[in-house]
Amino acid sequence: MAQYVAAIDQGTTSTRCMIFSHDGRVVSVDQMEHEQIFPKAGWVEHNPEEVWRNTREVAAGAVAKADLHVSDIAAVGITNQRETAVVWDKATGKPVYNAIVWQDTRTDKIVNELGALGGGQERYRAKTGLPLATYFSGPKVRWILDNVDGVRERAERGELLFGNMDTWVLWNMTGGPEGGVHVTDPTNASRTMLMDLDTLRWDAEIAGEMGIPLSMLPEIRSSSEVYGNVREKGALAGVPIAGILGDQQAATFGQACLSPGEAKNTYGTGNFVLLNTGTEKVMSENGLLTTVCYKIGTNDTVYALEGSIAVTGSLVQWIRDNLGMITTAAEIEEHARSVEDNGGCYFVPAFSGLFAPYWRSDARGAIVGLTRFVNKGHLARAVLEATAFQSREVIDAMNADSGVPLKALKVDGGMVANELLMQFQADILDVPVIRPVVAETTALGAAYAAGLAVGFWSGEDDIRNNWAKDKQWEPALDETKREALFSEWKKAVTKTFDWVT
Ligand code: ADP
Repeated sequence: MAQYVAAIDQGTTSTRCMIFSHDGRVVSVDQMEHEQIFPKAGWVEHNPEEVWRNTREVAAGAVAKADLHVSDIAAVGITNQRETAVVWDKATGKPVYNAIVWQDTRTDKIVNELGALGGGQERYRAKTGLPLATYFSGPKVRWILDNVDGVRERAERGELLFGNMDTWVLWNMTGGPEGGVHVTDPTNASRTMLMDLDTLRWDAEIAGEMGIPLSMLPEIRSSSEVYGNVREKGALAGVPIAGILGDQQAATFGQACLSPGEAKNTYGTGNFVLLNTGTEKVMSENGLLTTVCYKIGTNDTVYALEGSIAVTGSLVQWIRDNLGMITTAAEIEEHARSVEDNGGCYFVPAFSGLFAPYWRSDARGAIVGLTRFVNKGHLARAVLEATAFQSREVIDAMNADSGVPLKALKVDGGMVANELLMQFQADILDVPVIRPVVAETTALGAAYAAGLAVGFWSGEDDIRNNWAKDKQWEPALDETKREALFSEWKKAVTKTFDWVT
């Protein structure tokens, strides 16, 4: 009997394949980075063909590292960077343009034009749970249809397909032009701005206003069911593909936030706080998103409130790659530890405008509070603190929307290795911060979705039982200091507004 489940994690900076055992522990990992393409200020692209090549390689790599045979693997799940949009030719499998990445702000004019039809930024909130913003896929697809030669005509003739990275990977894994399955799940679909949150169907009216033919859109199935089998020869040949969750929803699932009121914060390229609100769809009045958390087979849909922050870990990358101040991300902690505090310096990384709770595409980054006193250590602290302050802002909004203050925060993602950041996060939130043993919760969540569909795990209790605490940080900052720092941060944020007009 198969002892393992595999997960493909198609992330923003890399693609991973991870193999998990029944107790939710990592058996092997293989990972490859892909190129970040920045053709102009504000534009971010990935090459979908490179991503697909990497997906095949890491799948083979992970299976080989664990010395497994395909018959050892019960199912494979897919999790992915959300919102990133690919359009391709269904006969050839060739993308018509690079994937436009979630952080890309080129659609700001399209977004403003749609808002001007009435309702402004709130135009589609009631149906989709989202404010009009460059972040979501719909306007990105519209941009491709408007700007790539001949593409609109080909789309209208039914020759082209759209997908987020989950769909692109699934379609290719199941045979591509030869019988590829064109499917997505409700967590990914809920980030396109084209799906009705109640019916989990594409909304013809919104698609019409955005000028997107419905024939391009994938079928929306649940997050946990068999969509098809891997057609490729090789490592995973024949294995059922049985789970799809957008990365943040996957992390929520992998963190066992399975009851209303449970929340997690993932610290990756950006930060994403998700609060499980159960089968109730809570509409935010404080700048958060309402989104699908998961839909397991024929069970009721579970919803979440989400605070999305565009730039956190990628600010550390920027300090490394654009300033050369550090050579590895982990080094930022040493610099930050060389000083006692931020020395009055605040870094607001509004590189892609500001997401939750502000939704300001006119904002751009700023470093404020500089004096001759400020040194590299203070700047390093300001970089790390920016992540914690931004997280506090979205958690404050969540507390206001839900009426129930968060009591503890489960954390995961690449940045949670940073102990200074974790302590400061507990200090600035005034609640304990808890890191699980398996910090790779995104891949784990996708594995759970797939494993549940094929009976490898029997139910949510298996997931709860597998979750174990690694470390907890207790708040240790007095209230006056905490609130003084936070109010200076908020003042710094206002300095980034109205930069792009
Ligand atoms: P993603 O899944 O979004 O690609 P990961 O969860 O792998 O991201 O996290 C990677 C991010 O975490 C990078 O942006 C990197 O700069 C940051 N990071 C990794 N290690 C550290 C560290 N020790 N301190 C601060 N940031 C870190």
